[in-house]
Parts: sequence; C-alpha cells; structure tokens
Amino acid sequence: MALHHYKKKRDEEGIKDLYTNSISQRQLPKNQLPEKMSDPHVIKQMVADELFMDGNARQNLATFCTTYMEDEVRELMDLSIDKNMIDKDEYPQTAEIEQRCVSILANLWHSPEKNDTIGCSTTGSSEAAMLGGLALKWQWRKRLEAEGKPTNKPNFVCGPVQICWHKFARYFDVEIREIPITADALGMQADQLKNYCDENTIGVVVTLGSTFTGIYEPVEKIAKALDSIQNETGWDIPIHVDGASGGFIAPFIHKDLKWDFCIPRVKSINASGHKFGMAPLGVGWVIWRTVADLPKELIFNVDYLGGELPTFALNFSRPAGQIIAQYYNFLRLGREGYTAIQKDCASTAQYLGEQLKTIDLLEILYDGHGGIPTVCYSLKDEKKAGFSLYDLSDRLRMHGWQIASYPLPSNRENTTVQRILIRHGVSRDMIYLLLRDLRKELEYLKCNPGLNNSEKISFHH
Ligand SMILES: *Cc1c(COP(=O)(O)O)cnc(C)c1O
Repeated sequence: MALHHYKKKRDEEGIKDLYTNSISQRQLPKNQLPEKMSDPHVIKQMVADELFMDGNARQNLATFCTTYMEDEVRELMDLSIDKNMIDKDEYPQTAEIEQRCVSILANLWHSPEKNDTIGCSTTGSSEAAMLGGLALKWQWRKRLEAEGKPTNKPNFVCGPVQICWHKFARYFDVEIREIPITADALGMQADQLKNYCDENTIGVVVTLGSTFTGIYEPVEKIAKALDSIQNETGWDIPIHVDGASGGFIAPFIHKDLKWDFCIPRVKSINASGHKFGMAPLGVGWVIWRTVADLPKELIFNVDYLGGELPTFALNFSRPAGQIIAQYYNFLRLGREGYTAIQKDCASTAQYLGEQLKTIDLLEILYDGHGGIPTVCYSLKDEKKAGFSLYDLSDRLRMHGWQIASYPLPSNRENTTVQRILIRHGVSRDMIYLLLRDLRKELEYLKCNPGLNNSEKISFHH
C-alpha cells in the first residue's frame, strides 16, 4: 500500500471508535474464511463479545472442573503458551516438572515405588482412562496367552461409570459389564461382583467420586471380594481406580479411607488435575502402582537430552502450561492448602445438604458426607409436584445458575436427580444466594404447575 493511501486509511479507520469501525457494522463471517486481514483489536473485541452469550463459568454448578484460578496461574500459562509437552529434548525442565508431578502423586497415593514408578500427564481423566484400560487389556492378554487360552473376548466390570469408560469399551473393543445399581445403593457393591467377573475380566474399574451422585465406591471391600474370587477360581483380577475427583480429595479429607496403592490389588489410578487438582482445563494423570504394571509394549521412547524418555499417550503435541500450573498448585498449596480448600468445599456442600433437607419437596440422595463436595437430590414425588427437576433447572438458569438434571443410572433410571458441585471458588455466600433463588423458583413452580414441560436435555459431565 502506498504511504499516502495507508495514511488516508488510518485517518478513516484509526481514530474511529471500536464499534464504529466498519467490521463492527457487519455480521462476522460465520462459515467462510474472510478474504482480507482485519484490525486485531476490533476482531478480538468482537470475539470476546460473542463469548458473553456463554454461561458464566463460575455459576456453572454442573461442572467438576476448575473455574477459579489465581493470577499467578494465568501468568505461568501465558509464559508457557509456546511449550510443547512432547518436546522433551527442547524443554527438558518442563519434562522434569511433569516427572515431579508424577512422583508427588505416586507418593500421595502410596505407591510402593514412590519415586520410581511410572505415570504420565494426559489431557484429562478420559485419556488417562484409555491408557489405564489399555494397560489392563495388555496385561490380561499376556496372562492368558501364557496359559495358552483364547484372548478374543476381554471384558471389564464396573458400577455406573463416566462416559469415558464406555468410550474405552467401544474404541478398544472390550466388553463393558456395568453392574446395575440396587434400590438402596448409588454405586457398585462388593457382593455383586462374583456374577460379573470371569477369566476374561481384564480388571474392575472402581469410581472414587461418582459422576452421578458424588459417592465413593468401596475400593477396599471390592478388593476383598476379588481376593475371595481369586481363592475360589484362581482369577487374579486387578483394580483400576477412577479417582477423577476423589484422587485429589480423599488424600486430604478422608485420610482413614483405604482406596489407593496401599491396597495391593489397585494397579493404576487416574485423576483429573483440572478438577479438584485445581489446575486449569486440560490436564489429567494416570499412575501405575509399579513399573511392572505398565506393559512395556505400550511405551514409546522420545528423544530426551540425547537419551530417551519413555512416553505413553494418545496425543503427540500437547500444551505444557497446564502441567506447569499443576506443579505451581502443588508447591503453592501443599498438603495444608489442599486440605483447607477441600475441607471448606466439603463443609459448604454439607451446609447446602442440610438446607435442602428442610425443603419438603426434595429427597436428598447424597448430602455431601463421605464422598466429593457435592449434593444430589430428587423430587419426592414428581407427579404430585406438577413439575420436574428439568423445569427447576430452566428456572434457575434465568438467574445464571447452571445446575444439571439427569436420570440416575441403570435400574433407577426413572429417578431424575440434580447435582450441585462445590469447588474452589464456590463460596458460602454464593450458596446463600443460590438457595434464595432455588426456594423462590420452587415456590413459583408449585404455584404454576402444568405450565412447565421442559425438554429433557441433560448436561452432566
Ligand atoms: C470427569 C470424570 C471423568 C472424565 O474426566 P475428564 O478429565 O473430563 O476427561 C472420568 N471419570 C470420572 C469419575 C469423572 O468424574
């Protein structure tokens, strides 16, 4: 562009207010790449404005994921925006930080090889579950091949699991045997196992912090039941603990609970760094009890300072910032900080549970005691109430609150429940305000029955 042209353009556009710029007077391109470049300030503002249409993350009480973080975390994320986790040779210090996080978790979860066991970061618990599941499948296959048995029908046994385990089953061709819950339980019970396990069971997946209700499944009892099964049949069935939430809660506020590598049958554990690990979105962890529990065939080596470093992952390139922020949280909070935050979250959840118990219409299924900091409830009698919890979700949405309504898992799927997650940054005062709105909307729905027939759109995670 000739200089005088450029100057003319600047005179025309440069002094304009952002919203009188010609771009802001038009619809933004929605499906096609625009032909020309545009002013970064204007475009940034347009995109940022569009994001206002999203719900407010801090009022999203359906998610387990981090929605509050310190400025220091944002700064570290910014600092590491250009680092690729897979380039261990180029970013050796980042690679070391990942290893430190693995050791910290191996220690926290009582691995007998605390400092030397194997584990890795992932994009979340879903990828971690795939890796944990694959390790079980490979170990099982080696076992059966050694006995000269067929290996074409692997299965795994679990209670009501998060969707990632259904994905694992389908993507990696393993039958999922999801045990239906009994009328008086919210998760898998130890005495149900014997009807579901056989010699093709690659493992039992136990959930510490059910996505549906927040309860912990009883890892220790399940391990004992598997001991008995082994005594009777010879099948040595390992446990993988899906501690997506609980892995970062139980070590701090349920110290007497036996659920981790202190139980020899527990061979691997996953957890979401971006849930109660309080890291920003995009990090999970999976740790094996010992090096021997991860089959060597699944490990690939990448260059690392002239040597080689073992990696096990579904992705190749991956952002490193979340892992660095995880390490920051570990150092910043320590045991003291994690304990204080998880305790506060639990006591806020329990307070909310107490308050909801005083509302006649509601039946509390989980009141925040003994599992993760959440409450789960249903309507005592939907017919009599004249509205559903989906209607209540809709009404609360008008105040900005996002609260999940969904059916309970198999066998109790006729019960609709709601779940409210308390995480770091959900203060007691926010819950006072929520309760105010919730009481008001229940009154409204009581006085206006029949008006409400909300679509059953569930948005639980
Ligand atoms: C959230 C969750 C997952 C999936 O974790 P992501 O980190 O979102 O991939 C798996 N299992 C349980 C029990 C969960 O709560």
